[in-house]
Amino acid sequence: SGEPLLSLDRLEVVYPGDLLALRDVSLDVAEGDVTVLLGANGAGKSTTLKAISGLLAAEGGAVRRGAIRFRGQDLRRLSAAERVRRGVVHVLEGRRLFRQLTVEENLRMGAFARSDARAVRDDLETAFTLFPRLRERRAQKAGYLSGGEQQMAAIARGLMARPTLMLVDEPTMGLAPGVAREVFAALREINAARGVTVLICEQNAALALSAARTVAVLETGAVTLFRPAAGLSLEGDVQRAYFG
Ligand code: ATP
Repeated sequence: SGEPLLSLDRLEVVYPGDLLALRDVSLDVAEGDVTVLLGANGAGKSTTLKAISGLLAAEGGAVRRGAIRFRGQDLRRLSAAERVRRGVVHVLEGRRLFRQLTVEENLRMGAFARSDARAVRDDLETAFTLFPRLRERRAQKAGYLSGGEQQMAAIARGLMARPTLMLVDEPTMGLAPGVAREVFAALREINAARGVTVLICEQNAALALSAARTVAVLETGAVTLFRPAAGLSLEGDVQRAYFG
């Protein structure tokens, strides 16, 4: 159908102290797409994801204007846990794992909203098939994983919630280029093989352009570019959108 899976319509978001983080963000994410949200530090990428997942409230932030529609339904009034149950899952960066818990325990936490124990067990095996290095380390504490492995574990934990829409916050931050490419390859696989729609915020524009089907650029709380990745030029279109 022509309806986007997710539609942000003129979002305005404030943090305590009347700090305006998003001025005017409109964005459609089509079902089955991989959309990458680019932008400089402080442009509002993470805030956009938090508004969609509902984690914004935990930081005292609020959507002051605009709508967030998922499958045509406004998410704004739903709690973050309720959004997870509907398939909207936010993957925070890998350093936010429970460091004292094992890899497997961390992954199981991702299934907190589910009661189908057998299917959860199956999904755990599927996640370990997608990330063989995590299977080898399933009994190890997450705090001992490398940066790349932690990021994979964070993504695998998100998968355990059986997302329809996966929101991924800066998955390559602090990673070596080869590891960053592996993380993006895993996200593409999750999209292609599992049919999960993916919205990623990312600072590495070159990597993003190679992986995304759709690219959006945020600048000081507003969208300055929103286009299919095919045919976009990094030096021309994207830089212009970054710097106005
Ligand atoms: P980065 O890549 O640096 O995280 P970003 O594009 O994700 O940048 P946001 O983190 O969304 O940007 O920040 C947007 C604006 O909101 C910035 O001005 C930032 O200082 C502010 N901000 C973010 N989180 C909070 C918070 N919890 N309380 C107050 N202000 C915040």
